[in-house]
Amino acid sequence: MYLENAKDEIRIEMLEVYAYHGVFPAEKRKGQTFMVNATLYTDIRKSAREDNLELSTNYSDVCHFITEWMQEKKYDLIETVAEGLAQAILLKYDLISKVDLEIRKPEAPIELPFGCVSVKISRSWHKVYLSIGSNMGDRESYLRGAIDALEAHPLIRVRNVSGLIVTKPYGGVEQEDFLNGAVEIETLLPPTELLDALHEMEAAAGRERKQRWGPRTLDLDIIFYDKLVFEDDRLVIPHQDMENRSFVLEPLCELAPNYRHPLLGKTVAQLLENLNNV
Ligand code: ADP
Ligand code: MG
Repeated sequence: MYLENAKDEIRIEMLEVYAYHGVFPAEKRKGQTFMVNATLYTDIRKSAREDNLELSTNYSDVCHFITEWMQEKKYDLIETVAEGLAQAILLKYDLISKVDLEIRKPEAPIELPFGCVSVKISRSWHKVYLSIGSNMGDRESYLRGAIDALEAHPLIRVRNVSGLIVTKPYGGVEQEDFLNGAVEIETLLPPTELLDALHEMEAAAGRERKQRWGPRTLDLDIIFYDKLVFEDDRLVIPHQDMENRSFVLEPLCELAPNYRHPLLGKTVAQLLENLNNV
């Protein structure tokens, strides 16, 4: 899960796991020793203060989990092992917000003298605010359906949902009123994969993209993704027009009035107030 101040580390160093990953058939047949280094980011203060293991993450348990997970399947790549294992740790251990994971393969089949080869990755939960809207058909059931779809996604957790408000259409196209809301989620998906997942949910709700700012059964927009500033051909974060849209700011203000826009330097409440004053 996402924790604001998870800067403390629980470290596992050089855990030895005998497993069967590798491109060559002999590696899958005979197996070899892998070494795992893991840094688990969490907040240890509560468990430390109360000297209570129940309030912390049991490193012995994590070591057994890593071992069993690595022995359960045979992958070609240690990349796949690292990615899958990092995800599995973050999904299983509630108090861990981020993990650095190194998978070492000291006996890799390389016909040269070498010390070790390894893959190292860092993965974490991200806090995201979404804007949701609909202005066709049963608007409320499209929005409820979207929240259900978000909840059903294995790499997304819904944390908070705003009230829904009726708003006038934006962008000058003659059409029905909208129903809008905001949703706070935590996700393991990187931004572009999250956008893909949202587009799939829109498509599943029967959305057709005919006209910019035109009527839609379901619109799911990424407003904030942590404090990330990101842009490519398909995606701009923070959402580039959010400060001009009261239908975005109003529901968002209910969830996160003090969340500060990483570029504009103003909180959501301040942006809403600015907009209401123009
Ligand atoms: P809008 O949401 O502005 O009414 P659309 O839903 O039709 O318009 O989105 C048009 C395109 O905007 C999407 O295909 C998507 O690639 C792009 N886009 C850029 N930034 C974002 C963002 N932060 N969230 C969602 N879509 C975005
Ligand atoms: Mg959109």
